[in-house]
Amino acid sequence: MASENAQILPNVKRIFLVLSGKGGVGKSTVSTQLALTLQNCGFKVGLLDIDLCGPSIPRMLGLENSSVHQCAQGWVPVYTTPDQTLGVMSVGFLLANKDDPVVWRGPKKTAMIKQFLTDVYWQDLDYLIIDTPPGTSDEHISVMENLKSVRCDGAILVTTPQAVAVGDVRRELTFCRKTGLKVTGILENMCGYVCPHCSECTNIFSYGGGESLAEMGKVPFLGRIPIDPKLTKAMECGENFITSFNESVAAQTFISIVKNF
Ligand code: ADP
Repeated sequence: MASENAQILPNVKRIFLVLSGKGGVGKSTVSTQLALTLQNCGFKVGLLDIDLCGPSIPRMLGLENSSVHQCAQGWVPVYTTPDQTLGVMSVGFLLANKDDPVVWRGPKKTAMIKQFLTDVYWQDLDYLIIDTPPGTSDEHISVMENLKSVRCDGAILVTTPQAVAVGDVRRELTFCRKTGLKVTGILENMCGYVCPHCSECTNIFSYGGGESLAEMGKVPFLGRIPIDPKLTKAMECGENFITSFNESVAAQTFISIVKNF
């Protein structure tokens, strides 16, 4: 169990949360790609998946058969490469059977998040990216309560461009204001699909909702990521999209975001 006096993330320089109003808008994809982009820029990075009921990060990084182990200082994260520049922690690594559902009530989730924030031996990190579940639930409140004693450098709000998703992000903005969490900006994901045959761009999920919300909420707009089948495929097979498709619009957008971290 986490001790009451355990220090929260003593060796982590900067912490960012990734939030979304609803599921399926690409929040875990964005968390993963931001972590890979920072790693590619030469930083030491941690990626903490607190989406306890739907942990998808292990699969996205090709780590679904990995497990964490314990050392004297706590849980050792799973590293993506032998140089240990990107460490990952997820409840997915703790399940005896990878297909087991996580059916936990609020207090158990709160305890697990506290343990994730106090008992993981991250070593020195330049950045910790925290992938949260959709909405504003027990997990968000718990992570904010625990992080209050350190600091959180910002929240990246992910939305698809259509009104219904943007409406949910408005609630995330309110959550950030109420908890005093600085908003790094809003990122519009799945914005347009460019046909590989005729190059025509179709705005499948409408266009511009995230940018309008950023204007209304007076927070930065971080850019647009198109629907990119290469990104879907990379996430399916745990391929490093950032190194494989560095010139793509998606990779360039992630690079421009981390430059302002
Ligand atoms: P969330 O974390 O918001 O539930 P995910 O990150 O799991 O969403 O994304 C849902 C699905 O959409 C995944 O299969 C992911 O690979 C895919 N996806 C997300 N963003 C894009 C994109 N820009 N282009 C193509 N596929 C995407």
